[in-house]
This record gives sequence, structure tokens and C-alpha cells, in this order.
Amino acid sequence: MRTRSIAPLSKEPIITAQIPFLDLRIEDESVRRELLAAIDRVFCHGRIVMGPEVAELERAMALRCQRVHAVGVNSGTDAVFLACKSLGLKAGDEVITTSLSWIATANGIALTGATPVFADIRDDLNIDPASVARLIGPRTRAILPVHYTGKICDMDALGRLAQEHHLPIIEDAAQAFGAVQHGRPAGSFGTLACFSMNAMKVFAAVGEAGAVLTDDVGLYDRLVTLRYNGTINRETCVEVGLNARMDTVQAAILLCRLRRVDDLIQKRRQIARWYQERLADVVTVPVDADDTRDVYYTYTIQADRRDELKAYLEICGVETKIQHPILMPQQPAYSQAAKGEWANAQKLVSRILCIPVHEKLGLPEVEQVSRCIRDFYGGR
Ligand SMILES: *Cc1c(COP(=O)(O)O)cnc(C)c1O
Repeated sequence: MRTRSIAPLSKEPIITAQIPFLDLRIEDESVRRELLAAIDRVFCHGRIVMGPEVAELERAMALRCQRVHAVGVNSGTDAVFLACKSLGLKAGDEVITTSLSWIATANGIALTGATPVFADIRDDLNIDPASVARLIGPRTRAILPVHYTGKICDMDALGRLAQEHHLPIIEDAAQAFGAVQHGRPAGSFGTLACFSMNAMKVFAAVGEAGAVLTDDVGLYDRLVTLRYNGTINRETCVEVGLNARMDTVQAAILLCRLRRVDDLIQKRRQIARWYQERLADVVTVPVDADDTRDVYYTYTIQADRRDELKAYLEICGVETKIQHPILMPQQPAYSQAAKGEWANAQKLVSRILCIPVHEKLGLPEVEQVSRCIRDFYGGR
């Protein structure tokens, strides 16, 4: 048996069902009808570009995240880039960010000409404020934490550092819409906050979408200009820019999905509890810190013999992912001149594994995944 070469098993793997990492099909009839009706309304009013749904979504996101302004954009990558650009970041400036994230975070910084400086992470996979403190220098212009896996960073510590050094915080909240820490939502902490609503996120469009939130009217005005080729009044170009406008159809979809996002988050949190009860003694499982609500964009365990476990789960019909297998400073595009420190991240990146946590899973699937993992370690 193939499995024998991977791990000494107490018994053969039980394959009851294929469990995909994500399932983006929209099958529920009432949800489908609601989304199609929303798209149909856009067809009828015909304001395909920057239609009323975009402004409505911006108001709704700002309200929900306790912000004054929101600017809908084309993607989370655009959101990070435009947020950095709105602060006037340029070549020679440094922005301290985490070392473990999707590479869009570093790209958003680097596209302004500024240099990302990579900080180490804590065991919860989020940026370590002690590492940030060590990396702050004369060229530092901003701190850009990522609420990784849907868990908000230690914003008390980061807020204190930012205040002490008079630095703005840009939250990359792409994975954390709906997360809460001490009563405050993700996206409410930074001078600027960035969201991605790409199709894989918990709060998701059926294509690409993103947003930048702020309370500062000056930054808001600049973001609106930057969103459309650096123009004012739709014609006069006052600075170099690109087209980062959000589609009306995506905004219409997102308005529908915003009404259901808390149900999705509750389901993910339930699945996380089920996993915790079944897996906490065989692998390191993620836990909510006190007085926080994590949204489990990913359910990322830390496991011994991670690659063997991943291969074994595949044989068991369980699709998993490593988000992400390459630290940002070690990506070929950055590794030549990467600045910062990432010793703990280096240790953890070989242990992380994201197991399915999407809202279509029920208890039987969670039990199947858990049983396979326990089997792998020879437990029951
Ligand atoms: C998804 C993601 C982005 C980029 O968002 P896109 O909409 O895919 O461009 C940026 N940062 C993080 C942490 C993300 O997870």
C-alpha cells in the first residue's frame, strides 16, 4: 500500500468522501435567486461603472468597521498599494510588515518604491511587536501588520509603538473582515485599513474586489483620485495612477453577502471548535485570545512531519493547503536584498498546514478530517 511508505498506520485510511479545501459553487436556491436579482438590478439601471451599489457598499463597510470613509477598489492588492501611495510613500522610505503573508502585502509596499522591512512573527502567526520595535529606524514611515488567518494582531502593543514613534499603521485586514478584538472590529485600528473581497475570502465577491478605509478626509480624497488614474473631476490628471475602480456588479453581490457574513463566520467558528476538541492533543491548533472573535479565514494547524501529513490527508480525500510555503523575504523577487528578521517565521513555515474550514462542512466531514489526522499520528 502506498500509505505504508508514508506512515506506519494502525489501520488503512477510511475514505468516505472527498473534502475540498474550498467549494465556491453557489448552490443554495434562495441565495442564488438573491444574487441573480442583485445583478439584474444593475443590468436594469445600467450604471455598470461606479454605480450606486459601490457607494452603498462603501457606506456599509465603513459603518460596520467604525470608520468615516471607505473607498471600493478592484482588489486587495490595489487596496494595499493605494493605501501606501496615499501616505506619499516613496523610494528610500521603509515600511515594517510581517514576514508571513500572501506576497500582495509586500508588493503593495514595494510598488510605491518604498522598501518592505520584514518583522518576525509570534507563535500565533501574527507580527511580533517586539520585532517591530527592533526594526524601527530613521527611514521607517509606517507599520503594516497583517491580521493573518483571520486573527487580529496585538493592536495594543502595535498602537503603543506607532504612537511613540509617530508612525501611521496600515492594517492589511484582507483575511479578517468581521474579526473583533476587545470590542473593536478589524479595519478600525489603523490610519488606513485594507480589505480584499476576492472570491476566496470569507466576505467574498464573485471575482476581484477590495476596499480601503480611513477616518482622514485628506487621505480619502487622495484615494479617490488614485483609484481612477490620478484624476480629479474625471478628467484632469494630478498624479500618476492606475484604474482600480470596483465593478458595480461585484458591489451588488457584496451587499447581499454582507447580510449573511455573520452566519458564515459563526459556522467557521463552530467548525474551529469541533476541530479543537478533536485535535488539540495531536497538533498545535489555533485558539482565540481573550476577548477576541477570530474569523478563521484559514484553520492553520502546526504539525510535526507536516509534508507527510499533507500527503496522507490527500490519500484520505482531504485537500489541504500551505498558506504560505515561502516567507515573503525569501521570495525570489525580494530575497536578494530583503531586510529584517524572521527566525521564528522560518521555524513555523515548515509546520503550518491549512485544513478545510469552509462553511459547507458539517460535523461528519470535520470528524473525517480529524480521524485522518489522528490516524496519521497513530492515535485514535
Ligand atoms: C488576499 C490577500 C491580499 C490580496 O488581495 P487580492 O484581492 O487577492 O488582491 C492581500 N493581503 C492578504 C493578507 C491577503 O490574504
